[in-house]
Amino acid sequence: MTYIDLVTYLKNQNATLVAVSKTRSVSAIQKLYNQGQRIFGENRVQEMVEKQKVLPSDIEWHMIGRIQKNKVKLMSHFISMIHSVDNQDLIDVINKQAIKHNRVIDILLQIKIATEESKGGWDFSQLEPLIINGELNKYQNIRVRGLMGMATFTQDKQQVNNEFKTLKSFFDILKKKGKLSHFDTLSMGMSGDYDLALSNGSTMVRIGSLIFGPRTY
Ligand SMILES: *Cc1c(COP(=O)(O)O)cnc(C)c1O
Repeated sequence: MTYIDLVTYLKNQNATLVAVSKTRSVSAIQKLYNQGQRIFGENRVQEMVEKQKVLPSDIEWHMIGRIQKNKVKLMSHFISMIHSVDNQDLIDVINKQAIKHNRVIDILLQIKIATEESKGGWDFSQLEPLIINGELNKYQNIRVRGLMGMATFTQDKQQVNNEFKTLKSFFDILKKKGKLSHFDTLSMGMSGDYDLALSNGSTMVRIGSLIFGPRTY
């Protein structure tokens, strides 16, 4: 599928595309930018910072990988959305850095839905009370925009489907019971499973290899 076909398809599904540009060169990103793409996702803070310095300033950078707290300050002056927020200490640090730069940073809470240990995130049972009791509303320079999740890497489509369904049900619960006024984003789906994610209510897909070709590490 070409980039333009993908964008058209996603528009019809009312879903936003995060072009996952980890490991890709500045010129590959610039090429996609020239075709109209503005949202790019990276999973390593330092790599993103280096790219951000030399690429157009109207790119919206999304952090999608696991973050060490001491790295937040490197990106806090420009980061647009952080998908991979999985603990309250991290929320605290992001909020403090956002205050320092007098900005509001959008975050998604990553929920563990996969069976692999390497794929992290909150257990929903730990997160739910924090949202229901308003604990996360005290961070004035953060907007909790929604949830993110990664399905298990498996050929078993039924399993992936069930995991996405579970995440969507968590999203609906929090949207209903949480007092979060900007809770509108469900980030799920990658190159291999975005169709299943969309049919389960995804509003944002994170796609790399389908656009840029296979990654060579
Ligand atoms: C790499 C990555 C993606 C994109 O993976 P593709 O299979 O290349 O589409 C999506 N989400 C996260 C968190 C990633 O690390």
